[in-house]
Amino acid sequence: MDVTLEILIVALVALVALVGVGAGLFVSRGRKELPPPEVLDEITTETIEHPEHPEPHLASEDEEPPFEEVPADEKAAPTTTIERPEAPGGRLARLRARLSRSNSSLGKGLLALIGREKLDDDVWEEIEDTLLAADVGVQPTQDLVESLRTRLRVEGVADPERARQVLRDELVAAVGPELDRTLHTVGDDGKPGVVLVVGVNGTGKTTTVGRLARVLVAEDRSVLLGAADTFRAAAADQLQTWGERVGVPTVRGPEGGDPASVGFDAVKQGIADGVDVVLVDTAGRLHTKAGLMDELGKVKRVIEKQAPVTEVLLVIDATTGQNGMTQAKIFSEVVDVSGVVLTKLDGTAKGGIVIGVQRTLGVPVKFVGLGEGADDLAPFDPAEFVDALLS
Ligand code: GDP
Repeated sequence: MDVTLEILIVALVALVALVGVGAGLFVSRGRKELPPPEVLDEITTETIEHPEHPEPHLASEDEEPPFEEVPADEKAAPTTTIERPEAPGGRLARLRARLSRSNSSLGKGLLALIGREKLDDDVWEEIEDTLLAADVGVQPTQDLVESLRTRLRVEGVADPERARQVLRDELVAAVGPELDRTLHTVGDDGKPGVVLVVGVNGTGKTTTVGRLARVLVAEDRSVLLGAADTFRAAAADQLQTWGERVGVPTVRGPEGGDPASVGFDAVKQGIADGVDVVLVDTAGRLHTKAGLMDELGKVKRVIEKQAPVTEVLLVIDATTGQNGMTQAKIFSEVVDVSGVVLTKLDGTAKGGIVIGVQRTLGVPVKFVGLGEGADDLAPFDPAEFVDALLS
């Protein structure tokens, strides 16, 4: 019995031991299949951040919107195109064909006469008539004929090319290559240059102011316009339109208002804005000389309370001939004219008016108008002008 009991106890112990090992193995396997908590955390994070599975994008307030929203007021704003005007240099060369009428009657006429084999008194008389008919003026014509006669008597006319060269030289000398034709636009003490544009209505005064603005803008100067022609209803609108095309502001007053106060306000504004040049359009009413003197004189005087006027440009319509010259004389007696703008030279055979007007007024032609285009105002150059006449 003791032996049987012993065997039974040993078997029971062995069984208990076996069950314990099996349970240990089972528990161990189970632990290995479940990773520790920190490893679990890593795996979870990796899964969320995996590039192949991006998080759904939730835009925050700080983030840029996916496209740029155009504000409503910007959507409604009109697009104004500011023009870039043509550079003034070379305009006369571009427009030389516009002098064709003057070219055929004055230039070709003179070339034909001077090219004759024999230059007798009759031929010289014809030369004189040709110059007079082209508005060169009496005294300048006599001077020109005299100098041509002297030179051709000495140098002879056997060579037509030589005669042509002499004619060219004498015409250039008569136009005055030594005259200062720069537009005076540099003001004193950092103030703007002030250009006063005067002339009879209809000569192209307002057009000239607009075109001068373009010349200055093309030279990278800042400009402001003063619409002091308060008498002609549309003048201020016309001027403002010229200015807007090249991004230049216009100071204007009430219609029929005092031109001097508009000029004053324009220059004051120009000083405040620090612009380079203020261009002032004026009214060109030729009622009486005294009335004109009062008006223009006052405009200039009042403007000069702000800054000195650096240039007074007189606009003359080249097609009006002697009548235009008479008007020009009156203006030059009223204000100190420092330069002439000869407009509509494209519409006349009388290109000699350039010489005539300079001699009559004692003031250089600084610009010529050769068409109705925005950039058809050319800085005047004597040699180029004569070459265009004789070409
Ligand atoms: P204002 O009354 O003196 O200010 O004259 P405007 O500036 O209004 O010009 C009168 C007219 O002359 C307009 O039709 C211009 O286009 C024209 N005009 C101005 N200059 C020239 C030019 O050089 N050639 C031609 N053919 N017409 C011009």
